[in-house]
This record gives sequence, structure tokens and C-alpha cells, in this order.
Amino acid sequence: MFQKILIANRGEIALRVLRACKELGIQTVVVHSTADADAMHVRLADESVCIGPPPSRDSYLNIHQIVAACEITGADAVHPGYGFLSENAKFSDILAAHNITFIGPSGDHIRIMGDKIEAKRTAKRLGIPVVPGSDGAVTEEKEARRIAAEIGYPVIIKASAGGGGRGMKVAHTEADLEIALQTARSEAGAAFGDDAVYIEKYLEKPRHIEVQVFGDGFGGGVHFGERDCSLQRRHQKVWEEANSPALNAEERSRIGGICAKAIADLGYSGAGTIEFLYENGEFYFIEMNTRLQVEHPVTEAITGIDLVHEQIRVASGGGLSVKQEDIKFNGHAIECRINAEDPRTFTPSPGTITHFHTPGGLGIRVDSGVYSGYKIPPYYDSLIGKLIVHGRNRVECMMRLRRALDEFVVDGIKTTLPLFRDLVGNADIANGDYDIHWLEKYLAKGE
Ligand code: ADP
Repeated sequence: MFQKILIANRGEIALRVLRACKELGIQTVVVHSTADADAMHVRLADESVCIGPPPSRDSYLNIHQIVAACEITGADAVHPGYGFLSENAKFSDILAAHNITFIGPSGDHIRIMGDKIEAKRTAKRLGIPVVPGSDGAVTEEKEARRIAAEIGYPVIIKASAGGGGRGMKVAHTEADLEIALQTARSEAGAAFGDDAVYIEKYLEKPRHIEVQVFGDGFGGGVHFGERDCSLQRRHQKVWEEANSPALNAEERSRIGGICAKAIADLGYSGAGTIEFLYENGEFYFIEMNTRLQVEHPVTEAITGIDLVHEQIRVASGGGLSVKQEDIKFNGHAIECRINAEDPRTFTPSPGTITHFHTPGGLGIRVDSGVYSGYKIPPYYDSLIGKLIVHGRNRVECMMRLRRALDEFVVDGIKTTLPLFRDLVGNADIANGDYDIHWLEKYLAKGE
């Protein structure tokens, strides 16, 4: 087992990983920018190293500074959290060259899944259902037209190097195709320095359902069920739940089984998430994330298993603490992402939190790095906390969530809490009746 883990992240996820390390008796080192000297993860860590000025590229993305911090403190492993360097294959390779363990999959697996064309090809080879579309990159309009006619309109053009929902264009008819292809390519080139694009069938009303998987590092793979993350705004997840209100036990075990086998066949190690669009009872692979997800706590709530403990165990060569048959799904969990943003316009609202009071009681978990008197710096993403609620079933979970949202107090800044108070009273949400467009339509109506 590791002696000392360096946590290369900030905010709630740095604290989340730190808690797991403490429970496992592992020493912790955190790195931070000058803007985060007062952060909770810095206060609670055994050691901390300031790695640079506020901009992420000079601090949390500065590989040389982070490796130097490992060497100075003698850390033998790095947990990257999510975002920042968590899906950076070069970072994983550099750590390996310094004999420091990257708590995550191999650089090669990160590379495959970071290229969406390659990822889709790999998924297909492993028996994962994919969205019908081109086999690889498409450059010629003639070829695009042939493929689109074959799969049928509408189609979506996507950037191979894409991320964060950028570089995607929908063509509803053949007349739209040329312009969609051109715009997607030039946007992809500008945003990612790579103008490779591919075509797939555009699904009109899908849900976003993702499967949590783990490779044990010895060629075995398991799944921890799914999460439904259909409630999104601008491709950013807002509310996540497990299990999905749309799946039955048979569908869960079928798609879970396919994913677990694929992970084993790939020889993948550590945590991963296989993301699907789901429509009319069919799953369509869109991408795989090779890291811990923001929304992992809903899976922890219904399985009772600490996924960060498992990541650390697997990375240290100790394998998983559970077999597939030990993973049971109990009740229902919902996560609300609380952002420091105006709940109507979603513009960031940094500043000082004058009062912070979190709800408590059975089935309530709050993962947050902030506290009363904390000043939110303007340089990073606006997530200030996650409220995760568990109940024996979805109805109990929603009742508890409503109560917990009423108790939550964040004064001094604007947050998205009022949005969740609205959502929890909505009939479609109560019925689990929503797709990936539901939230944007709801917000546009200004209800
Ligand atoms: P990114 O990596 O940029 O987030 P994804 O491939 O994960 O890109 O897709 C992001 C979102 O775009 C999906 O959650 C979905 O809302 C939409 N999307 C992607 N592919 C399709 C498709 N074939 N049909 C309909 N919507 C899609």
C-alpha cells in the first residue's frame, strides 16, 4: 500500500480523496495555487505545497511543479481527481518515468478513450453497442452524404478531439449537411487543433445513462450499475441519480454485464465510466471517461462501497475488495450539483460565503470544500458542493431531498439551490419522466 499520496486537485474532490486517504491510514500531500491557500483541503492535509499563481495552467495543470512537489515530499502516488490532469496521458507517463504511481488507468487507455473515433472503434470491437455512423473520420462532403443517407437524417457531426459538448453540429436534412460539416470542422480545428470529425445518427429524445466500471488490475472487470444524468444544461450535468428511473433490473444487468466484460477484455485498470445515450430500450455508446466522475457518490450511496478506496487499492496492486456478486443495489440516490451561479442566468457568482449551513440526518451527504467566511476565487469552476440524498426508494429519496434543500443555507453569494427547490416539486421530475432536453426546455419556459 502507498505511504503518501499527493492529491493533484482542489475543491470538493480534493477533500473527498483526502478523506479516503485518512481512512486508509495514508499520509496526504496537497498542492494548491496562491488563490487556494485558505482552502479546506489545504487545512486538513498532512502537508501542502504551493505550486503557482491562480491560473490553472500555471498551477493545477503544471506537470513539472506537481512532479517536483512529489519529489520534495516523497509522495509515492498521485490521485488526479476529475478535470485538470485526470485524463492527461502525458502526465501519467511522466509520473511512471519518475516511479510515482498515477491512480488511474494506463497512459495508453487514456489515449484511446481521449480520441473519440478511436474510442468508438474500440467500444465496437469490445461488443459495446454504438450509435450508427461513420467508421472513422469523414472529410469529403460526398462521403458524408452517402453515410448520412445510409443511416438516415437527422445526423450529428462530432469532433474526434471533442469535449465539453464543443464541435458538434446537427444536420436535419441533406441541405444542412455541407454547412454542418464545414462548421464542425473549423470549430474543431480552432478549439482542439484537430479538425477530424465523424458522423453519427442524431437521437432525438435520448436519456444520458452511464455505467460505472472498474478494472481490478489483474484482467478482471466489474460494474457498479448505472447513473442517469439526463438533466443537463449546455451538456453540463445538473442532477444525477442511481438507479435510472428508466431501466429495469434486467436491462441494468445486461448493459452492466456487457461493460464489465469489455473492461476485462481491454485489460483496463481502475475506475471508468462508459457513457451511453438511451432511447427506445437501446443503448448507444458515446464516450468513456477514464477517471472518477463528479457524480460517483450516488453509486456509493446505493452500493455502500467507497469508490476512492477501490481506486487506491487497485492502483497499489491490491485488486478490488468486491466481486460482481458482492455488489448489490440498495434503494435510490440523487445528487444535486450546487454551483456558485445565478440560478436563472447561470452566470458565476464568486465572492465571500458569509454563512454556510448544511443539512443533516439519515441518508444525507454533503461533499463540499467551502465553509462560512470562505472566499470563492473567480478562477475555477463554480461547483461549491454536492448534496447527495439516499432513500429506500425513489419516493422516499425525493421526500428527503426536499427537506434537505429547505435546510441548506448559503449566504453571501448566489447559488443554484433555488433551481433544485423548483425541480423537486415538478411533476415530470417526480415521475422520472425526462430526457436530455427536458431541463433546457424547462428553463426556457422560465417556470
Ligand atoms: P463531449 O465529450 O463533448 O461531452 P459527447 O459525445 O459526450 O461529447 O456528447 C455530449 C452530448 O451531446 C451528449 O450528452 C448528448 O447530449 C449530445 N449528443 C452526442 N451525440 C449525440 C447523438 N448521436 N445524438 C443526440 N445527441 C448527441
